[in-house]
Amino acid sequence: MNTNPLLQIQELPAFSAIRPEHVEPAIRQVLDENRAKLRQLLDAGANTWDSLVVPLEEMQHRLSRTWSPVGHMNGVVNSDELRAAYNACLPLLTAWHTDLGQNEQLYRAYETVLKNEGGKLSADQRKLLDNALRDFRLAGVALPEQDKQRFKALMEQLSMLQSKFDENVLDATNAWSRHVTDQSELAGLPTPIVERAREAARGRELDGWLFLLDAPNYQAVLMHAENEALRREFYRAWVTRASDQGLSPERWDNTTLMADILRVRRELAAVVGFDSYSDYSLATKMATSVAEVREFLEQLAARSKPLAQTEFDALSKFAGRQLNSWDASFYAERLKRERFNLSEEALRPYFPLPRVLSGMFNVAERLYGVRIAERNDVDIYHPDAKFYDILNADGSRRGGFFVDLYARPKKRGGAWMDECVGRKRLGSASASPVAYLVCNFMPPVGAQPSLLTHSEVVTMFHEFGHGLHHLMTQVDYPSIAGINGVAWDAVELPSQFMENFAWRPEVLPLISAHIDTGEPLPQTELERLLGSRTFQGGMQTVRQLEFALFDLRIHSEIREDDSAASNAALMKILDEVRTHVAVIKPPAFNRFPHSFQHIFSGGYAAGYYSYKWAEVLAADAFSAFEEEGIFNSAVSQRFLKAILEQGGSRDAMDAFVEFRGRKPKIEPLLKQLGVAA
Ligand SMILES: [Zn+2]
Repeated sequence: MNTNPLLQIQELPAFSAIRPEHVEPAIRQVLDENRAKLRQLLDAGANTWDSLVVPLEEMQHRLSRTWSPVGHMNGVVNSDELRAAYNACLPLLTAWHTDLGQNEQLYRAYETVLKNEGGKLSADQRKLLDNALRDFRLAGVALPEQDKQRFKALMEQLSMLQSKFDENVLDATNAWSRHVTDQSELAGLPTPIVERAREAARGRELDGWLFLLDAPNYQAVLMHAENEALRREFYRAWVTRASDQGLSPERWDNTTLMADILRVRRELAAVVGFDSYSDYSLATKMATSVAEVREFLEQLAARSKPLAQTEFDALSKFAGRQLNSWDASFYAERLKRERFNLSEEALRPYFPLPRVLSGMFNVAERLYGVRIAERNDVDIYHPDAKFYDILNADGSRRGGFFVDLYARPKKRGGAWMDECVGRKRLGSASASPVAYLVCNFMPPVGAQPSLLTHSEVVTMFHEFGHGLHHLMTQVDYPSIAGINGVAWDAVELPSQFMENFAWRPEVLPLISAHIDTGEPLPQTELERLLGSRTFQGGMQTVRQLEFALFDLRIHSEIREDDSAASNAALMKILDEVRTHVAVIKPPAFNRFPHSFQHIFSGGYAAGYYSYKWAEVLAADAFSAFEEEGIFNSAVSQRFLKAILEQGGSRDAMDAFVEFRGRKPKIEPLLKQLGVAA
C-alpha cells in the first residue's frame, strides 16, 4: 500500500506527515496515472460531457490537490530539501499542462462535445468548454509538430527561469541584515520593531539589535527612523535586491534572467501567432487590447498626475528640503500626523489581530448569512497556522481556510490567498473549497497579540476578499469554480471590494478594541482615519501607474534578443515611464525591476494594470453598497449571487452588469482616491 501522504487525499492535507522526499514520487505517480487515463479515454473515443469532460476535471482536481500543499509549504516553510523537490517537479508539471493543451485529439473531442451536446448544456458547462477550447488554441494545439515541441520547450524554460528569479530575490533578501549597537540609531522606531530586532540579536547571540530585511522592518525603518543614513541603507538594500548593485551579484543578480524571461515570453507568444507577450496575455483577460489598456492607464495618469505633483510639492515644502526616495515615507508619515493628528503606529493598540479577525468574520457573516468558526483538530504545518470553517445558515459546511499571518524566516514576503482545495460536485464525488490566507504581520511579542496598523488591517480584508471569492462559489466544476477561470483583470474585484469595509464607520467598531482598555477606535480617530484615506491618493496612483505602464511596455515593445541590449531597452522604458508619471526621481542605484516578482515570476506579466482595472470595478461595485446601505442584504445578496458564487463560470463583464445594472464607471474610483470631488 502506498503510504505517501500526498497521495492520501482526505478533506485536508496531512501536512505534518509531508516530507520533501514524498514530493517528486507523488507528482510523478499522479501524472503517470493521468496520462494513462487520458490515453484510455481517447482510445475509447470518449466525446461526451460525462465520459470526457468530467474525468478530465477529476484528473486536474486530483493533481492540484496533490501539488497545492507542496507549493504552499515551499512558500511558507521553505527549506533547501523542499525547494529542490519543488523545483524537480516544475518541469514535470509544465510538461503535463503543455501536453494537455497541445493534445489535438483531446481538442477535437472537446469540440465534439460542444457540437453534439451544446444545446442541452448549462451556461456553466458551455463556459467551461469555451475556456478550454480557447486555451487549447493559446497552447498551439493546431500547430505543426515542430512548433508544438518548440512551444513546450519554451514553457519549461520559462518556468525554470521564473523560479530562479524568485529564489534570487528570496536568497538576496535573507542574506542581508543590519546589526545596530548604537542605540541612538534607533531613534523614532516603534517599540515592537525594536523589541523584535532585540530578540533577533539574542537569537544569534549578538548584543544590540539585529534587523533582517523583511517587509515590516523595511517599512518601519523607511517610515519612522529619524536617522537618514539608516533609512538610506535600508532603502538601498531593498531596491537593489537580486541586482548588480546588491549583495553577491555573482550569485543573485537577476539582470540576465530578466532579459531571458522577456525573450522566452516573446518567443512563446510568437509561436502561437501573437505580435507580443502583451497581446498573448490579453487574450484571456477582460480588457480586449493593448491599446485599450494603454488608453485606460493614460486616462488615469492624466487625471492623477497633477494632483500627485501638488501633493509632492506640499510634502517637500513641509520637509523644508529636497526629498530623496528614502525620505518620502518618513515625511509623509509626519505630514499625515500633523494634518490628521494621526500616526499609523499609534493606532496599532486598537487593532489586536484576534479582534480584527473576529470583526472581519462578523462582516462576512452579516453580508452573506454564513458563520465562521475556528477548528482545532486540523493538521497544520507550522504553529502559526490556524484553520476556520465557513458554515451555511443551516450549519452545513461551505468551505474552510487556513490563516498564516506572521512574518518569519523561510517564509516568502507579502500577502496572498491561494487554493488548497477547489470546489467540485462531479457525480458522486464532491469537495468543499479550502483556501490559504497568508500575510507577513509582526508576530506577537511575549504574551501580547500581534497589533496591526490600519493598512495591515486593509491587507487582511483584501486577502479575505479573495478567500471569499474562492470559498463562496457554487460552481460545480473545479476549472471554473471560485477564482479559477476568472479573467485575471477581474480577479482583484472581490479583494479590493472587501478592502472598502475596513474604512467604514459601521465596521471599525467591530474590528477595533484597544489592547489595554478594550475601547473601540474613538470617533475622533475614526474621522481622522477616514480623512487620511485619500492622503497622497495622487502619489499612490501614479506609483501604481508607473508599475503598470512599465510592465505593459516591456512586454509589448522590447524586441532585443541580446541580453545587454534587452536590459538597456528595459531601463530606458523605466526611465521614460518615470519621467511621464512619477513625481519623485529615484537614485541611479535603484534596481526596482530586479525584485519585481509580480511580473517576472508571478502571474502579473503584462497584467499589472489589472490592479487598477479591478479597482475601478471594485469601487463602482462598492458604490452600490454606499447608495443602498453597506449591510443592506438585498445588495449583498445580489453581489453574492452575481459575482462571488459565479466564480469563473461567467464572463466578467456580464457578471458585473448583472450586479450593477450597467457597465463600470471610472468616477467612483477617482472619488475614492481623492482625485475627483
Ligand atoms: Zn489581491
